[in-house]
Amino acid sequence: MIPGIRLVLLGKQGAGKGTQALKLSRHFHVPHISTGDLFRAEARSGSELGRALKKSMDAGDLVPDDVVIKVVEKTLTSGAARARGFILDGFPRTRPQAEALLRALEPLGGLDAAVNLVVDTDVVVARLSGRRVCTRCGANYQVETAPEGGVCENCGGEIVQRDDDTPEAIQRRLDLYEQETSPLISFYDERGLLAEVDGLGDPQEVFDRTVKLLHENGRR
Ligand code: ADP
Ligand code: ZN
Repeated sequence: MIPGIRLVLLGKQGAGKGTQALKLSRHFHVPHISTGDLFRAEARSGSELGRALKKSMDAGDLVPDDVVIKVVEKTLTSGAARARGFILDGFPRTRPQAEALLRALEPLGGLDAAVNLVVDTDVVVARLSGRRVCTRCGANYQVETAPEGGVCENCGGEIVQRDDDTPEAIQRRLDLYEQETSPLISFYDERGLLAEVDGLGDPQEVFDRTVKLLHENGRR
């Protein structure tokens, strides 16, 4: 039986968290939990909560901590995530979220590592401006190389540009990353959980680097 893993992915918007999360979740046979994907699905459902989430997301603002924490805690402490672990993509993004996660995982044995994907800001801005995503499975493409007809290669879902990949919302999200999320790098470093990976280059190379580092650090 392949051992599971409990991983957090850190990194700026466009650093490649979604792409790496998908690869890592297949490798370790654990669910990929993306708070952005969960919120976009809720927004598409048209519920009252979904409409409120869409407003925050389209402006590039953060969803309030209490809402995010409730959604994630429920997902992590049930089903496959509880049994085998998870790849968390887009959570935590604030200090209160990181503390809530530590508390929720205490009875389960804690995190294995927080992987920080390091990429310069000018590179992520270029990636986000050309980004296209699958509305069903969350797979990421670049406009020049996206499949013809706008149909996802993984799942057949529709490929679109995200409503928050506008220049204004991209800037707002990167500002919030600096203020709220980048302090989590030292939060995890202080707890001996940080693994820093160069996020430049081919996605498969970044993935190989990540798995090698986790292995060397005795995380897996
Ligand atoms: P990105 O990281 O590129 O902004 P995501 O798909 O991870 O994209 O998230 C999209 C939006 O969902 C965010 O801009 C924010 O509004 C909301 N969101 C996702 N995760 C969180 C979180 N942990 N805390 C607060 N808001 C979140
Ligand atoms: Zn898809």
